This record gives sequence, C-alpha cells and structure tokens, in this order.
Amino acid sequence: MTAVIDLRSDTVTRPCQNMRQAMADAEVGDDVIERDPTCERLQELTAELLGMEDAVFMPSGTMTNQIGLRIHCRPGDEFLCEAGCHIYNYEQGAFAQLSGLVARTIEGQYGVLRPEQVRGLIRPENDHLVRTRLVVLENTHNRGSGRIQPYAYVEEICSWAHSHGLRTHLDGARLFNAAAATGIPLASWAQHFDTVSVCFSKGLGAPVGSALAGTRAAIQEARRHRKLFGGGMRQAGVLAAGALYALRHNRDRLAEDHANARILADAVRGSEGLQLQPDEVDTNIVIFRVDPRLGSAAEFVQRMAERGVAALAISPTQIRLVTHLDVSTGDCRRAAEVIQQIAEESAGPRVSLTHSVANA
Ligand SMILES: *Cc1c(COP(=O)(O)O)cnc(C)c1O
Repeated sequence: MTAVIDLRSDTVTRPCQNMRQAMADAEVGDDVIERDPTCERLQELTAELLGMEDAVFMPSGTMTNQIGLRIHCRPGDEFLCEAGCHIYNYEQGAFAQLSGLVARTIEGQYGVLRPEQVRGLIRPENDHLVRTRLVVLENTHNRGSGRIQPYAYVEEICSWAHSHGLRTHLDGARLFNAAAATGIPLASWAQHFDTVSVCFSKGLGAPVGSALAGTRAAIQEARRHRKLFGGGMRQAGVLAAGALYALRHNRDRLAEDHANARILADAVRGSEGLQLQPDEVDTNIVIFRVDPRLGSAAEFVQRMAERGVAALAISPTQIRLVTHLDVSTGDCRRAAEVIQQIAEESAGPRVSLTHSVANA
C-alpha cells in the first residue's frame, strides 16, 4: 500500500519538526489580559510584510474575513463581491448571520472581476435601499483555480471604491502565492485595501491561524470584535510561533508548489476527456472537468484514491487538486501518471464499445 499523496487542499500540511520545536519553545503570555509576546512578534512581522500599520492574529481565515467585513459595515449595509468567492460561498453566510449584511455578487471570469463590472453598482441614498459600503476581492481566487487578480484591475477597482467613499477588504488567504508567482511584493498588493486577511495554515504550512491587517485604529476595533466572536486566545504564542516559523521559512518555496501544479496541469491537458478550467494554472490550484462519459467526478476521485492519490470532487463534474509543502515533485509526477492512466482506462472500453456498435 503506497502512502497517500494528499492533494485535497493546502490545509492538510502537518507542522515539520523545526516548526513543532519553535512552538514548544514559544515565549507566551495571556493575550486577552495583556499581550502574548510571540503573537506580538507575528503581528509585527505580518504588518511589516504587508506594509500595514498593524495586524491581529486569529484562529481562522473565516474569522479574519468576517471581522474585516464587520468593522467596515453596519447592519443593513451591502458589500460587492465576486460570485464564487469564499466569503459568499464557504462561510455559512456569516456576514448575514453575525453582522446583518447583504452581499451583492458579481460573476467574474474564474474569480477575476473587471473594473467596469463594479462601476455603477453603488446604490443611491434612498430609504428603500441598502447602503453600499464595501468592495471585497479574493487573491488568489480559490474557486477560480488559484487565479491571480490582475494587478491593474485591483488598483483600478480599489481606487474607484475609495474615490466613492467605499471601503475595501482583501481575502488574501493565498496572497503569499500571488506574491510568489508574480514577484509583486505583498505590500504592493496590500496597499490598495483598508484591511487584508492572510492565512498561515494554507501554503505556508502552519497548523492554525490567520491575521487581519490594517490601520492601527481598524485593528484595535478588530481586536475588540475578535473577543466578541470568541476568538480571544490566551497563551496563543504556541500557535503564533508556528505561524511565525511559516512566515519566515515557507514563503519562498511556494514557487515549487506552483511548478508542481504545472506538472499536474500538463497531465490533465494531455488526457482525453479531461479539461483544465481555466486552461492556465497560475499558482497551486488545479481544477479540471471530467467528461461525463468517463464517469462522475466522484468516481474519478475514488479511482485516484485506490491508487494512493487523494483529490476533491468539487461538483458532479469537477475535481480540484492543490499542491503544498507536503507533496514533492516526485509525488506530483506520480499523481500525474495516475490521472492519465485513469483517464485512458475510463475512456478505453466505452470507445471500443461505440466502435463495435458503429461497425455492427
Ligand atoms: C481557506 C480560505 C479562507 C479561510 O478559511 P478557514 O478555514 O476559516 O481558515 C478564506 N478565504 C479563502 C479564499 C480560503 O481559501
């Protein structure tokens, strides 16, 4: 039985020995009564890298996103976002449940919003209407197959938003991937936003944690809401130490994950009945469609699992693969072979069947 090559998500990574040691050795304090020194160090480094005044450590990206929305908006306010984004689709509508907000979704292409799509969407001041308060972008875009938002679009959308009195929030769970892939520094991406959420537990490989960055005033407000949402953590330095280790050691190697994703993408491209969506892979996420003649996506995933490769069926016809620091180039080559083999085998018998029928 071969070990599992787990491509379900970049959240599945386990802390390495050095990271565990850093966590074990972390200097800690009570981060609710006062401050935890390791959390402080993590927050300072995060803010510095993002070029923001301050940052606050939280247990999850859902919390950093929801608190980002919360501090910009009041009940009855509306935010604009891309229809496939994480905040709208994968956070249980927490913006409505917890903060009384309304989302206005706009369909982008693989998660990319163009400036002309948002212009004109601000509702006029009128007692019948919600108030448009905020624009949310996601970079890289999870459901959009790790797509990088074009920098010029980000700049234009955010400057339009600010010039009309709107706030801007970036769901940058994978902003580190966007920076690694483009060479555009984190701070350049971040400068266009009032708040930026980043995850340490995705490609960076920490076991737990995200941070929200922004102005000193915004982050002070965010700390307050973190407590309200149940995210006040005591000796959180143990967790922050893992995130700090990840931030220091695991950013540069993200380029390897992107190269490994291209190996998987090539296998998909070369397989009859499989179609990359979109054609190009920007970062560490590969999404492809399985022609129903080969069976369902779930069946395809089951066949992959039988050969030691774990993947995720994200719709009846789509499969997602994500590369990360716990899968090597060799693992990805092996997974690529498995994908090609299954596609060939699934197509084989049915093709010959049609053939014989046609000949009959
Ligand atoms: C993973 C992810 C989050 C946060 O998820 P948590 O599981 O709550 O940490 C937020 N946004 C995007 C785009 C993500 O991929």
